[in-house]
Amino acid sequence: MSKRDYYKILGVSKNASSDEIKKAYRKLALKYHPDRNPDNNEAEDKFKEAAEAYEVLSHTEKKANYDQFGHSGVNSGPGGGASGFSNVNDIFESFGDIFGDLFGGNFRNQRESRKSGLTPKRGHDLSKNIEISLKDAYTGITLDIGVYRYEKCEGCKGSGCKDGTSPSACSTCQGQGQVNFRQGFFAFTQACSSCDGEGYVVTSPCKTCKGQSRVQKYERISDRHIPAGVFDATEVRISGKGDAGVYGGSTGDLYVKISIKPDNFFYRRGNDLVTKLVLTYPQLVFGCQVEIENIDKVKGTLKIPKGTSVGQEIMIPGKGFMDLRRKIRGNLVIITQCDIPKKLNPSAKDKLKEFAENIGNSCQESSSGISGFFKRFLG
Ligand SMILES: [Zn+2]
Ligand SMILES: [Zn+2]
Repeated sequence: MSKRDYYKILGVSKNASSDEIKKAYRKLALKYHPDRNPDNNEAEDKFKEAAEAYEVLSHTEKKANYDQFGHSGVNSGPGGGASGFSNVNDIFESFGDIFGDLFGGNFRNQRESRKSGLTPKRGHDLSKNIEISLKDAYTGITLDIGVYRYEKCEGCKGSGCKDGTSPSACSTCQGQGQVNFRQGFFAFTQACSSCDGEGYVVTSPCKTCKGQSRVQKYERISDRHIPAGVFDATEVRISGKGDAGVYGGSTGDLYVKISIKPDNFFYRRGNDLVTKLVLTYPQLVFGCQVEIENIDKVKGTLKIPKGTSVGQEIMIPGKGFMDLRRKIRGNLVIITQCDIPKKLNPSAKDKLKEFAENIGNSCQESSSGISGFFKRFLG
């Protein structure tokens, strides 16, 4: 039997757009749909013929070959050939999407053989926020994490059924999970509301979980180590500590989000730990040795060189945050500040005035916040 022209089959012109081709195919596919034409071989042939035409004309390369060489251009060789569907299910496999919602979104699944029980579903992933101090982030910390999560019911081993019983086919949909109904010309398929589309129901539920196959419990996950150097807003995944799945589905994961509380004296800059050190003017001028304490309370001595200015950054290598990948610590950065006294005793005051004159400053002491120069004008 010689093949008909693909454009004629779909009833479109050679210049038809891909949208027009798709529409034309959809119309034919619905018309000759096997569910609408049961035991009608002629309709099935037409259904297959339309699918073959659509397969070629919806494919840019195959369409170009067909336009140039006709059927001989698409019937040979892999890649360029038309499949010539022998099986209706292959058509659903390839073009099932085109039927869209008319036959229910799960059209392809509907044709697969139905399962014989409740579908296991994976449990949800859970998330949990924990707050740690900057010091904990510096040293690392081991802690317990409490979480409410679903666990597989021990009473029924996750089946949801009372001992010795098993789920039975839903009486509304006879185990199909879907119900079909007609409205005039159209056939509709809808998920069965009696069994939520499962096809099966637990008729003798387990007493412990009331047929839910899992129970919610508070669990303390102990001795979880948060490594030194962890950054704020890091998420740590604890595998298998989310909700248990239903009907034996796999368990979700727990995501622990770590937020780091700001510290009063230290802050983080990359892998450096930064703090301020307040020194007096003579200490900055003459240099000195001071005792410092790191965030982990470890003490050390720091030598301030003479002539150190305010805002200078003194680096102590290896005392900053742990770099999680390179496993080396950053710097402890100490930023110098100068302690400016609000009050001085009379002798210190005289000495400071003397010093000021010595370096060529004339200091007019002011009692208010306004400097002497302006005070004369405003007063
Ligand atoms: Zn149970
Ligand atoms: Zn049902």
